[in-house]
Parts: sequence; C-alpha cells; structure tokens
Amino acid sequence: MLKALELAGFKSFADKTRFDFPDGITVVVGPNGSGKSNIVDAMKWVLGSQSAKSLRGKDMSDVIFKGSQTRGPAGSAEVTIIFDNHDGALPIDAPEVHVTRRVYRSGEGEYLINNQPVRLKDVKDLIRGTGIGIDAYSLIEQGKVDKMLNANAKDRRAIFEEAAGISRFKAKKVEAERRLARVQTNLTRLGDIVDEVG
Ligand code: ATP
Repeated sequence: MLKALELAGFKSFADKTRFDFPDGITVVVGPNGSGKSNIVDAMKWVLGSQSAKSLRGKDMSDVIFKGSQTRGPAGSAEVTIIFDNHDGALPIDAPEVHVTRRVYRSGEGEYLINNQPVRLKDVKDLIRGTGIGIDAYSLIEQGKVDKMLNANAKDRRAIFEEAAGISRFKAKKVEAERRLARVQTNLTRLGDIVDEVG
C-alpha cells in the first residue's frame, strides 16, 4: 500500500528526494550516519508525530535541514507519503492518497491530504485502523518487538484492535459519547431556563 515517500529540506535530505517502494521488499543500505533512520523519522513525522524525542531531536525545528559545509540551512521541511489506494483501504475516494506535512522555521506548519489543507485530526482519522500510524504495528523500530512481547494484556489487545481495524470505530464511539454528554448538559441548562421563565 505504501507507494512512495518524498522529502525536501527534511533532516539530511536538503534536496527533494523521492523513494519508490515497489511490490516486494525494499532494503535501504548505507554507511552509519548516512540518513537511513531519517527516512523512518520522515514517515513518523508526516503521519503526525508530535514528539521531537521520538524523532531523535531536541526540538521540532530540528527536522529542518540545518545546513552543511557547502550549503545553507533550509527554510522549511516537507514530507509527502504516497499510498496506493486502489483497494480502498483508506476512506478516501481516490486511487492514490498523498499526505503532506510542512513546517517553517517560524514554527508554522500545515498538513495536506491530496493537496487540500486539513487538520492533524484528519490525518489521524485517515490512518486509524489501518496499522500505518506512528504507534501502530507497521513501523517496527529497535526495541519495539521487546516492547510488544512485554506489553500487558490491555496494551497487547490494542495492537490487535488496530490490526483488526476496530480502533477506528472505538475512537468514533468516544467522540460520539463526548458529543452526547455535551448535548445532555445543554438540555439540562435549557430545562433550567424554561423553569425560570415559566
Ligand atoms: P546509523 O546506521 O548509524 O543508524 P543512519 O544511516 O540511520 O545511521 P541517520 O541517523 O538516519 O543515519 O542520520 C543521521 C545523520 O542525519 C547525521 O549525519 C545528522 O547530522 C544528520 N541530520 C539529522 N538532522 C539533521 C538536520 N536537521 N540537518 C542536517 N542533517 C541532519
């Protein structure tokens, strides 16, 4: 389902760089410090990671190319992840889904889905239940296998729920319950006003 990844100004990738992931297995090889893990960081970042630490930086602006001996720093970082959606796995009526995240040195940033500006919540809703998310099971980093094996029953269940696609509905249920509680509060308030006026 993952089709390609495009980076520009992200960490060590100063120039626009595209990685294609054809069917089968893709292996990325390179010397230490050449930027292999930065590719995984880019995937986590574009899917909404808010933790500088999990991206191996101190500050969120650390994802922007900071310059080298031969060239100046970049003004922004941009990553686009491209999914093939012919199977309709993502709830968007398009054969390809592009998710883009962009951030400027000022700290301002934006998310886009198929070039339309969206909220972070929209990106999270899009991938929930697909297993693609930052905390899901598609990205298995160093230490993650140990973590899964040592997880308690509740956390392990969450992994299976994500795999089964249930987590999307669970999140929707929580949202609906919250909305219902708000309506209930408004109703009570309305009842009070009616009592007062009457
Ligand atoms: P290893 O095999 O040692 O894990 P790796 O190939 O996974 O290495 P990464 O950790 O992905 O390498 O890349 C680290 C490199 O990225 C370092 O050289 C670091 O200087 C560079 N880097 C990280 N952030 C930035 C940035 N904001 N601007 C420029 N370069 C950066």
